[in-house]
Amino acid sequence: MHIGNYFGAFKPIVDISQWNTTYLMLADLHSLTSVHDGETLRRNKKRVLMEYFALLPQDSKIIVFEQSKANFHDKTAGVLHNLVPYSLMLRAHSFKDSQNKNSDINMGVFNYPILMTADILLYDTDIVPVGKDQKQHLEFARDIAGFFNKTYKTDLFKLPEPHIDASVMTIPGTDGRKMSKSYDNFIGIFDDEKTMKKKIMSIVTWSEELDDPKDPENCNVFALIKLFAKKSRQDEIACKYREWGYWYGHAKLELLEIILDYFKTPRERFTSFEEDAGYIDMKLEDWNKIAFDMAEKKYSEMVRLVGL
Ligand code: ADP
Repeated sequence: MHIGNYFGAFKPIVDISQWNTTYLMLADLHSLTSVHDGETLRRNKKRVLMEYFALLPQDSKIIVFEQSKANFHDKTAGVLHNLVPYSLMLRAHSFKDSQNKNSDINMGVFNYPILMTADILLYDTDIVPVGKDQKQHLEFARDIAGFFNKTYKTDLFKLPEPHIDASVMTIPGTDGRKMSKSYDNFIGIFDDEKTMKKKIMSIVTWSEELDDPKDPENCNVFALIKLFAKKSRQDEIACKYREWGYWYGHAKLELLEIILDYFKTPRERFTSFEEDAGYIDMKLEDWNKIAFDMAEKKYSEMVRLVGL
């Protein structure tokens, strides 16, 4: 997980969970669209789970579960497929984007919005926190829930609302573009200190001389400092930017210290999970069961309605 994922996706979910029952799904079935090696998938899953568990607040009520272990997601999608017009699927941005990148795509990519619809509808979901890029898929989920309810004269599926937090900004990467794995410009929260330092020192800055005044508001390093530091620390650093003898290198080292301090506890927990993931396995078993029971209930009602 990188800093962009954390502020753009993970933290808003934790915030929402203070007032709502919240499910956080590890989308392992979705990852089959691109990971075609069992060992790699298992390793990636383990790492993501360790990251989630390390970052969850101690008093968190979020239920983390594995999509495949809840067992009914693909089966539900299998039924929903029969109600989704092909013309609707052709309008999906995700499919069009993938098609632009690859000359051919697999059917998992094409059908992905239907599986995502099942992920949402099985849990009577009221709100789904998403980035702007996922807004259309939420509309699909609402449409598909509506098709089902209308066809089978039922109100089985609740129509979910997207929750798009306009205040969540796009976090810049080390080159000033959107921080993203695909641009390799990201700072990983659980990178070892040496790697993190190397990435932070590579952040692109202007090239003023040592004694030139520098503008904090026009600096990629300060943009990241602002995400973590308290207002008083931000003001203190902003003052230094305008003083003689303050290099961008100094600001980068302050950023490193601030990030390490901010993620101190999660980083320690992550290391402890590397040594012993027993706690994760135990919690997951309970939470997978909660998800399984909920999904099974909804799925059973659905198959009864369709006549299976
Ligand atoms: P990446 O671009 O690194 O592959 P993902 O597409 O896996 O990231 O992102 C998962 C979620 O994290 C996205 O839906 C988005 O909400 C959030 N996210 C990713 N990068 C950023 C960023 N730079 N700024 C804000 N949010 C981001």
